[in-house]
Amino acid sequence: MKIAILSRSSKLYSTRRLVEAASARGHDVKIVDTLRCYMNMATARPSINYRGKPLDDFDAVIPRIGASITFYGTAVVRQFEMMGVYAVNESVAISRSRDKLRSMQLLARRDIGLPVTGFAHTTDDIPDLINMVGGAPLVVKLLEGTQGVGVVLCETRKAAESVIEAFFGIDVNIMVQEYIAEAGGADIRCFVIGDRVVAAMRRQAQPGEFRSNLHRGGSAQMARITPAERRTAVGAARAMGLNMAGVDLIRSNHGPLVLEVNSSPGLEGIEESTDINVADLIIQFIERHARRGRTQTRGTG
Ligand code: ADP
Repeated sequence: MKIAILSRSSKLYSTRRLVEAASARGHDVKIVDTLRCYMNMATARPSINYRGKPLDDFDAVIPRIGASITFYGTAVVRQFEMMGVYAVNESVAISRSRDKLRSMQLLARRDIGLPVTGFAHTTDDIPDLINMVGGAPLVVKLLEGTQGVGVVLCETRKAAESVIEAFFGIDVNIMVQEYIAEAGGADIRCFVIGDRVVAAMRRQAQPGEFRSNLHRGGSAQMARITPAERRTAVGAARAMGLNMAGVDLIRSNHGPLVLEVNSSPGLEGIEESTDINVADLIIQFIERHARRGRTQTRGTG
């Protein structure tokens, strides 16, 4: 098969591993810099140009779209879809997962466990917003944050009020969430491909920190997950319409709760901590599912 990997850089671990895995399985694989794709939007014969030449003949595309280029990146994926190229994750599913509120609404509708989360716009509503999530301690999150940046633990009601007011004052969107203290600074990343969790790792925050992101000094090890966690992770990916997803769960006293569903999950942490060849499993999935013209928008919303 001819496979395109949409990625900003060939040096990224995940990109390198996907190239290795595809080549090892005998495929013709090319890294395509998402932001160097350009296209004529207004034609009945959709195409993509790349460094002066048309990009054609691809059977499948693996989108690795960073959060900062979601808008342009999803347009490029959509153009591949219009050309009949199979996208492992489709543009609509990527857009859904990038919008934290939309994601939570879709997950809630499927009855998937989520931390109690509030969203508001006006300062006058802050006291009731805090009540809605059960009071302090609570977590305030920037809607646009990634890698734990903009995730703030407020231990007291007073602190929560000031933090929320400050964010409203500079006009950024935030959500307010119950703090799951019993998680003990750990979360579980489940790597979902199709309807299976193929690998899972437990990330533990550094002492004195509640955010377990590896970029914030968290450490990772292979995790054994329960059937309920497996169901939750697979259900969350399906609710987004993602064939490949990194589903972050937190272990609460009332079962697994989804924190986030990532549509371009990194391979480095998960492959190193579990010793599972996730890249190879992604390529195998493509071999089983990629058919030209079979692209369809899965899921809802
Ligand atoms: P990001 O998308 O920026 O990584 P997350 O919502 O995943 O933000 O939060 C970062 C980390 O903070 C999580 O991996 C988890 O360890 C911790 N965390 C997030 N929300 C909560 C919460 N409601 N209760 C307890 N810990 C949380």
